[in-house]
Amino acid sequence: MRDSWHDRFADSPDVLKSARRAQTIVPVLDLEIGGEDFITMAGPCSVETEFQLMATAQHVRRAGARILRGGAFKPRSSPYAFQGHGLAGLKMLAHARQETGLAIITEVMSEDDVPMVAEYADILQIGTRNMENYSLLEAAARSGRPVLLKRGMVATIADFLRSAQVILDNGNPHVILCERGIRTFETATRNTFDVGAIALLKHISHLPVIADPSHAAGHRELVPALARVAVVAEADGLLVEVHPNPEKAWSDGEQTLDFATFGDMMASLDPYIALRGARLPACQPAVIDLMEAVG
Ligand code: PEP
Ligand code: MN
Repeated sequence: MRDSWHDRFADSPDVLKSARRAQTIVPVLDLEIGGEDFITMAGPCSVETEFQLMATAQHVRRAGARILRGGAFKPRSSPYAFQGHGLAGLKMLAHARQETGLAIITEVMSEDDVPMVAEYADILQIGTRNMENYSLLEAAARSGRPVLLKRGMVATIADFLRSAQVILDNGNPHVILCERGIRTFETATRNTFDVGAIALLKHISHLPVIADPSHAAGHRELVPALARVAVVAEADGLLVEVHPNPEKAWSDGEQTLDFATFGDMMASLDPYIALRGARLPACQPAVIDLMEAVG
């Protein structure tokens, strides 16, 4: 990697690739995020009912997802919108894991809730609105659970990497970066999917990178194409919103896929995933020489 990248991101040194660390692999149950397999995390924006969650879990598992997403604590644009079921939602997620074997990712919004969420979740999600909440990041880091850090909607890549550095600094090496779209002058899409950020993060950082085409697009008909673009940009996996009846979803229905469309999207990814070819194994001297030669 060129020195100029090291200079530019000098205040988040541990996030960058080095001779010691070419790729971090985050273990989650029997999965490896950042390894050879492309990992899809899918499920509803919010945990609503046992039926909604279980039906979605079973469907996304059959379609090839390995991790179930679902919010029990919801950061909402309106203070009067559904804020999530809290502990009851976490229990529904744990039940879905027991029934399907899928690992669970769910958002934690408050430092005080970290121990409780960490008891039920396999991965803690830090939302875009909390990316720079360093006390939450520190608490999440100390839980010992892997942390998926979403890019702030107005965060530069340098800001994003500084937040990842805070988690690493607090003793947790299992950080997953998530590009979920940023705010730009464009308003036709909910956010602007920053595919350049995915390519750059994969180039400079050893941390796994997950793409969230749902929040980036804001419109379900755009999600499958953005998901395919994410694969080609070398993302390690996806985070996608799926619901049995998106029109009736309690949150983010407009960007949520139904079961059939999610199944079709997953099938459409296969040729692109095959093109990724063999991933580079972590920390092998030959790989590091190759990286240094390529620059
Ligand atoms: C979510 O994943 O449902 C969510 C609220 O995401 P973000 O923090 O990216 O808006
Ligand atoms: Mn959502």
